[in-house]
Amino acid sequence: MTQTTRRDFLKQGARLAALMGLGSSAAARLAEALEELSLGAAPVLWLQGLSCSGCSVSFLNSGSPAPAEVLTQYITLLFHSTLSTATGDMCMEIVNTAVKEGGFYLAVEGAIPAGMPEACLMNHEPMSKIVARAARSATAVLAVGSCAAVGGIPAAEGNPTGAVSLPEFLEKERINKPVIRLPGCPCHPDWLVGTLAHVLKFGLPELDTMQRPVMFYGRTIHDQCPRFADYEREHFAKHFSDEGCLFELGCLGPNTHADCALRHWNTGANTCIKAGAPCIGCASDRFARDKAFPFYRKSESVSREDSKR
Ligand code: SF4
Ligand code: SF4
Repeated sequence: MTQTTRRDFLKQGARLAALMGLGSSAAARLAEALEELSLGAAPVLWLQGLSCSGCSVSFLNSGSPAPAEVLTQYITLLFHSTLSTATGDMCMEIVNTAVKEGGFYLAVEGAIPAGMPEACLMNHEPMSKIVARAARSATAVLAVGSCAAVGGIPAAEGNPTGAVSLPEFLEKERINKPVIRLPGCPCHPDWLVGTLAHVLKFGLPELDTMQRPVMFYGRTIHDQCPRFADYEREHFAKHFSDEGCLFELGCLGPNTHADCALRHWNTGANTCIKAGAPCIGCASDRFARDKAFPFYRKSESVSREDSKR
């Protein structure tokens, strides 16, 4: 893995500024922020609850910066449940030292099994207890991905673990810390790195009523969709491989706030709708939570008029 250079930071700063809607004047400051992040200005303690590790994999899949650079060079990780090589007592020592010293950002991936603490353990200690301790001494808390941000698949209707989102868990524990939710299944690497860079150079980003950064979640997929013109002229795809708007195939873009239609995944390679797959609302607050919100909206349940609201 090559070392990140100043030129790389400038390039990434410019890309982030453009995609965060901050304009070219912010590019240099974001480049500075990225460099400072890599030097440990906002260290991150990353814990995992009930999750598939997909958000971590999403970070490792980022193409430019190269795989692993985001996690190892753009942000300073004090500990990461999947990537750190420490195990057993050694890993608890690292986590406990970080918690004791404070001054870190707590990133939590995964939901918290509030009704069955033994469903997720770290060195025999319930993860929920470790998350509570860490949140109390963290500067701020980031709920990374839909499971942590809104409960996601682990909190689906009928789950036996009593899984809840991180904000729900913190409220139940009466832990009053600033929380930023970054929903998405998975979370886009830019949403985390961009949020940390913004915190460093411009302070806390503007959040919506769901504590999501407006710069990433301010508009619906539908509003930014490359197939929006097809929607307007009612040119609808009938099959998954067809050209045209995917609304009649159940696309949840009109109900989902995120910028992936513009940002794309795997460093601009593609995104769901461009690849012909309807948006399943993975960044939505209701994603996978209840049966009334299936992955693909039944076209009869949301009219075109509803989608315009
Ligand atoms: S319904 Fe889906 S495919 Fe059609 S314009 Fe909206 S977001 Fe794009
Ligand atoms: S387009 Fe929809 S399903 Fe695809 S990543 Fe974005 S929010 Fe998730």
